[in-house]
Amino acid sequence: MISVSEALTGIFDLLTPLPAETVSLRAASGRVLAEDAVAGRDQPPFDAAVMDGYAVAEAGSLVGKTLRVVGEAAAGHALDLRIGPGEAARIFTGAPMPPGACRVIMQEDTRAEGGTVAIVEDDPENIFVRPLGSDFRSGDHLKAGRRLTPMDVVLLAAMNLAEVRVTRPPTVAILSTGDELVLPGDTPRADQIIASNGFGLAALAEQAGAEARLLPVVRDRMEALEAAFDLCSGADLIVTSGGASVGDHDLLGRDLSALGLTRNFYKVAMRPGKPLMAGKLRGTPMIGLPGNPVSSMVCGMIFMQPALHALAGLPPQPSRRDRLQLAVDLPENGGREHYMRSRLGPEGVTPFTSQDSSLQKVMSEADALIVRPPHDPARKAGEYIETVPLRP
Ligand code: AMP
Ligand code: MG
Repeated sequence: MISVSEALTGIFDLLTPLPAETVSLRAASGRVLAEDAVAGRDQPPFDAAVMDGYAVAEAGSLVGKTLRVVGEAAAGHALDLRIGPGEAARIFTGAPMPPGACRVIMQEDTRAEGGTVAIVEDDPENIFVRPLGSDFRSGDHLKAGRRLTPMDVVLLAAMNLAEVRVTRPPTVAILSTGDELVLPGDTPRADQIIASNGFGLAALAEQAGAEARLLPVVRDRMEALEAAFDLCSGADLIVTSGGASVGDHDLLGRDLSALGLTRNFYKVAMRPGKPLMAGKLRGTPMIGLPGNPVSSMVCGMIFMQPALHALAGLPPQPSRRDRLQLAVDLPENGGREHYMRSRLGPEGVTPFTSQDSSLQKVMSEADALIVRPPHDPARKAGEYIETVPLRP
C-alpha cells in the first residue's frame, strides 16, 4: 500500500491546470488568478490629505500664528494654487495637497476667523499626508496562482482593473454506486439506505470552487457502470464512491480497462479510506472513493479538494493543516495514517470514542480531524498535534 502523500502526488500527476478566461471584477471573488494582475496607476495618485484641516507650507511649529486662507481643496476638487509661507488652504480628507503645501494641521487644532485661521496647537511631527504611491505603484503585481479573496478584489479594483484573467472552474462528475441506495426524499425499502455521499462530495467540491455534477445512482451492474461513465464526458474530474473493495459486487475494485479505465494506484495506507484508487477514465482524471460515508468524505477532503484546487491553477499541495493542543493522551498509532474525528474544547482537541467509518452523525459533530502519521508514538495531553479543520 502506498502512503497518503504518495497517493496525493499520484493524483496531482494526473492533472493539468485548466485554461484561463476573462471575467469581470464582480465575478472574480473565489476564482484563481491565472495571470499576474498589474496596477494601471499609482495609489494614491497624488499626495493626499488624511485629515480635515489646513494645508500649510511651513514644516516647523506654527502655534500662535495666524495664517491667511487662500483657497479650498476637497476630495475630487484639487486646488491649483501655490501655498506660500503665512498662507494656508482649507483642506478635506482625500484632497490632493496643493502645490507648495507640505503638511496638514488638523481642524481641531485651529480656530477659523473670517479669511484667516489661528493655529492653537501644532505637532509638526504628524504631517497628515499620505504620499503618492504609498499604497502601490503603477506596475506593481498581484501574482497569479492565488484564490482571490474579497481583500484581493478591493485591491484589483483600486488598481483600475475592470476584468481579470482567472482559471476556468473545474467541473467534477460525481457517481455513487450501490444497489442499496435511494435518493434523499424517496421511500426506501427496509433493505435500502439513503445515498448520502454524493451530496456531501458535491458540497465539498463546491467549497473548493468547482462545479459539481451529481449523476444518478449507479446500480452494481457492469452495464450500469458503463452507461454512467458515458455521462461523465466533459467533466474535468470524475469521482466515484462505493464499490471499491474486493466484494463480489464491488465493480470499481475490478479490472475496468475494458471500460477505458487505467488505474494509477489502488489502496492507500490510511484510516478511514483504504480502498482508494486513482487513474484516468478515457483520458479524464478519476478518483475512486470508498463507499463508507466517513471514508468518502475524509478522502474527499484529503484528495478530491486538493485535486480541484490544482485543476483550478493553485500550486499542488495538501489540504490545510492546523496545529492544536491535545486534550487527552493518545496511544501509539498503527501502520496507517489515521484521520480521527475530534471535538474542540477549551482544553484542546479530543477524538470521539468511536472512530467507525460509517458514523455520519459523529462526523457532523466533529470540529477537526486529528492526523496521526503511521506508527506515530503515544502522545500526551498538552502536546501539539496536526489537525485538518472541518469548520471554516
Ligand atoms: P461499498 O464500498 O460499496 O462496499 O460501500 C461500503 C458501505 O458504504 C456500505 O455499507 C454501503 O451501503 C455504504 N455506501 C456506499 N455508497 C454510499 C452512499 N453513496 N451513501 C451512503 N452510504 C453508502
Ligand atoms: Mg457497494
